[in-house]
Amino acid sequence: MAGIVDTHTHLVVFHRKGVLDETLAAAAEAGVERLVTVGTDTDDWDVYAEMAGKYPQVDYTVGIHPCSVEDGWEAACGKIEDYWARELKPVALGEIGLDRFHLPKDEAEAKVVFERQVAACEAQLEIAKRLDVPVVIHSRGAFEECVESIDRSGVDWSKVVFHCFSEGPGEMKQLLDRGGFGSFTGVITFKNAESVREAAKLQGLNRLMIETDAPYLAPMPKRGKPNEPSYLAHTAAYCAEVFGVSLEEFAARTTANAKAFYGLD
Ligand SMILES: [Zn+2]
Ligand SMILES: [Zn+2]
Repeated sequence: MAGIVDTHTHLVVFHRKGVLDETLAAAAEAGVERLVTVGTDTDDWDVYAEMAGKYPQVDYTVGIHPCSVEDGWEAACGKIEDYWARELKPVALGEIGLDRFHLPKDEAEAKVVFERQVAACEAQLEIAKRLDVPVVIHSRGAFEECVESIDRSGVDWSKVVFHCFSEGPGEMKQLLDRGGFGSFTGVITFKNAESVREAAKLQGLNRLMIETDAPYLAPMPKRGKPNEPSYLAHTAAYCAEVFGVSLEEFAARTTANAKAFYGLD
């Protein structure tokens, strides 16, 4: 079978548990030929840069996740561009964005935290625009605001992916109208995710990308368990059926899309 690409995973979790080699071996066994490990905070950027140097199938990104935006984020933000001066550059900036699901209960406090997320997201979009590199967007409960920030930033939409796309066809159309992308996690395999499947079909196989977002969001039939890159095979098999194509064709096309988007060789 043609290999598949896990376009969004957090390998630091497996690294810290001391099981990275086994995890990558299981992924390879399941047909995952490439992985993009996604930065969320200064804590994981160097781990990922090193990992990408050690494992030829691993590429990395750097960015400050909206839930990692804390006081002093500006200093962290100031380090991002340095990674593009390295020999082994990140393949994208991210994940960055907005997240309403983990805000403090107190309304006034939540407002401050959300505004700080917007500021950090927009500062990073500015860097992405300057570097002209792909951007990984994390949007939870804040789709419209993310779209507005990107519109304002002047970032090239053809370099933007909304990862873990969990909205419906209406939101997908907004991305497509602008030239952006959505990538899909195991959420697409959930029984109640019909509108997510419709969004995937609207995007079509010419643009579709898949990911695990491991260790989160394991696909059926592993739902509820900690996720790992090898489980991408379940999502791929499920999606091939949704699209009515062979697994071989599904793998070949989504891998081509991922390689083109992230510039993987
Ligand atoms: Zn995310
Ligand atoms: Zn993620």
